[in-house]
Amino acid sequence: MLKSVNPATGKIVETYESHSDKGVEKIINATDKFWHQWRTTSFSHRAIFMQNISSLLRTRKEELARLMALEMGKVLKEGISEIEKCAWVCDYYAQNAESFLENEFIETEAFRSFVSYQPLGTILAVMPWNFPFWQVFRFLAPTLMAGNTAVLKHASNVPGCAIAIEDLFREAGFPENVFRTLLIGSNQVENVIRHPAIKAVSLTGSTPAGKSVAAIAGNELKKCVLELGGSDPYVILKDADLENAAKICTTSRLLNAGQSCIAAKRFIVVDEVYSEFLEYFTHEMNQAVFGDPFLPETTMGPLARKDLRNELHQQVVNSVKMGAEIVLGGEIPNRKGAFYPPTILENVQPGMPAYDEELFGPVASIIRVKDEAEAIKVANDTEFGLGAAVFTSDLKNGEHIAEKLLDAGCCFVNDFVKSDPRLPFGGIKTSGFGRELSTQGIKEFMNVKTVVVK
Ligand code: NAP
Repeated sequence: MLKSVNPATGKIVETYESHSDKGVEKIINATDKFWHQWRTTSFSHRAIFMQNISSLLRTRKEELARLMALEMGKVLKEGISEIEKCAWVCDYYAQNAESFLENEFIETEAFRSFVSYQPLGTILAVMPWNFPFWQVFRFLAPTLMAGNTAVLKHASNVPGCAIAIEDLFREAGFPENVFRTLLIGSNQVENVIRHPAIKAVSLTGSTPAGKSVAAIAGNELKKCVLELGGSDPYVILKDADLENAAKICTTSRLLNAGQSCIAAKRFIVVDEVYSEFLEYFTHEMNQAVFGDPFLPETTMGPLARKDLRNELHQQVVNSVKMGAEIVLGGEIPNRKGAFYPPTILENVQPGMPAYDEELFGPVASIIRVKDEAEAIKVANDTEFGLGAAVFTSDLKNGEHIAEKLLDAGCCFVNDFVKSDPRLPFGGIKTSGFGRELSTQGIKEFMNVKTVVVK
């Protein structure tokens, strides 16, 4: 049994019957069988369905945003943008998949030799609750356009979103077994990965979940793409526009109530501008209006689940016990629901959860460093490597730091890290491997086939 609980009230929204092992088997066999037909269809045929679904998403954006608000507490404005972004990624791959996957001819002694990109079969997606539509669509749009079929195991706290996505595909006219949702818990994932018809896995989620799925996939010799946790460093140099940097840092830290893999998490500030930046940043963080995600004035909803809120608070408490100091927030509010206030910790040191671990909520760790060289060292002093940003008015130096010095998959100068269908997205170190989006993303689940004609 899967259930959605409204995190703003703690009330059960709805319960759903899980799929039995037999039911799962039936669905996977159906998507596998249908793949043999789907792979023979043209890009233009697939693009018609993909564009239907993008129109449907745009028409339904408010209703779908309400569903997210209900199941995981996302504020309506952010939910609407998320659905618009899903429509964008569908259009993007409907328009570009064919050119991205064109044959690449290579001169050899043969009459003709080339690389051809062929689909693999049914791909399993294991997805998180924090962007319940975007995470799924950024996987599905390239995967299905490339001629694969797919099954989704969504996070257990957003079954309503999982079902809504399957319904959207049906309504957009996609043949039934191109894409199916599996209503299962994480304990059923191993059997799905081991199913012979599952050809590869894409997991977006925590690093422990990634390790577990990668171990099983590795044992089966099935490819996986892993988009995992992050503790993105934002470096503030002495020549940064501090007021603007504070605004951007706040947006990144509080987006989705801080529950984003690419949220700014550690703020590394050089000594010379430390106090001034902290003043601007505290002011900005204090502007957040947290409360009912359905109200238009709310800028930050509750966290997605009470257990996650309590875990975050424990990380704050443990860091404070070890010497971190609270500048803002840091207390569980006296109200119903999984709320947590915008929080700033300073004096954050190695060994503390606020330095070493991912803080998946609106808590900012501020780290004071003496200069640029130390800032980069601290930025890279993490097991994660998803995103990073640097703020400076010297664009040439900023670009050099972003390109050559920061150890992360996505490095931005004077802006916050965000995903974009046109740019590859992914991490290094324990943030995972493989890339989503852009040309790289669509090639992950393909047979890169060499064809030689003598
Ligand atoms: P999670 O607990 O790891 O869950 C993610 C998905 O994996 C869910 O569907 C979950 O199912 C499943 N799962 C969990 N443990 C599993 C296991 N041992 N075997 C198989 N499946 C398993 O993560 P979350 O709390 O939903 O999401 C937050 C995490 O995701 C954060 O660490 C965040 O940084 C990361 N994230 C990364 C990206 C990225 O692009 N890099 C994007 C978004 C989020 P159940 O719900 O049934 O447990």
